Amino acid sequence: MMIEINRVCVIGAGQMGTGIAQACATAGFAVRLNDREEKRIETAFANIDRSLAKLVSKGKLGETAGSDARKRIVPAHSFADLAECDLVIEAATENEATKREIFSALCPSLRPEALVATNTSSISITRLAAATDRPERFIDVHFMNPVPVMQLVELIRGIATGEETYEAARTFVAKLGKTSTMSEDFPAFIVNRILLPMINEAVYTLYEGVGSVESIDNAMKLGANHPMGPLELADFIGLDTCLSIMQVLHEGLADSKYRPCPLLVKYVEAGWLGRKASRGFYDYRGGMPIPTR
Ligand code: NAD
Repeated sequence: MMIEINRVCVIGAGQMGTGIAQACATAGFAVRLNDREEKRIETAFANIDRSLAKLVSKGKLGETAGSDARKRIVPAHSFADLAECDLVIEAATENEATKREIFSALCPSLRPEALVATNTSSISITRLAAATDRPERFIDVHFMNPVPVMQLVELIRGIATGEETYEAARTFVAKLGKTSTMSEDFPAFIVNRILLPMINEAVYTLYEGVGSVESIDNAMKLGANHPMGPLELADFIGLDTCLSIMQVLHEGLADSKYRPCPLLVKYVEAGWLGRKASRGFYDYRGGMPIPTR
């Protein structure tokens, strides 16, 4: 059952879901955007409007292309609205129980040939696929943040993912004008297996008092030529997502070198989740980000 992807639904209207919806609509796909909180969908639409207007003002997108893209995105208020959809991309909170609940609630509303994808950064695709009624039509289409800008999409197959599903996902990514890489289904795959231990180590460096937030970020920007410091990047990703990925690495690989830094845990417990909460390793509530340590 080869499927042509025209209609995409994105579940989770946070940082990633918003970017995925925008990238799909700009590439010509009809998009439905769902979240369990209506308020999040409204915020996502406001962010998409702002982002498209910026691209138009910079000359990176034509005015008509921008307004056409915006018109292609409509809200999906419940999973019953997804009956016509060809591909669902789940981009909800990085929590296995949350994602499993979504998949089991969602599948009865879908056409049998519809493909289901997750955007998980770290969780086993084989385990998530088992929460659906179609493991052979399930895959991780792992976008990078910010989605409209970043070129890479990691594709990760679970043990049951069919060849046709993989090929359909590759074609879909190419239509978005992005490049896909393939990684095996091991905790955190390629990008985050390498990136998150570095971020966690930066938090340990702060925790042990080796350097301040500013020193650590400047050291890695100027000394290793990274475009963003690791703590700035952690804030950008979301500290809850960073912690969740470290927990998946720690549990999945059973190696103490992946233990999440207690300071990262403390920030998450405080609700200081980074940019999306206006506070993390930096405080973003004023005009300029101010280090919090
Ligand atoms: P976020 O916190 O910005 O957004 C998560 C959204 O999911 C929220 O709007 C929340 O209301 C919604 N949600 C939670 N439970 C839901 C449910 N049951 N039904 C519908 N919506 C629900 O998080 P994010 O940064 O957008 O991350 C989302 C996913 O993308 C995670 O799996 C994360 O690992 C992955 N991801 C994140 C990044 C990043 O840099 N932040 C990069 C790549 C992949």
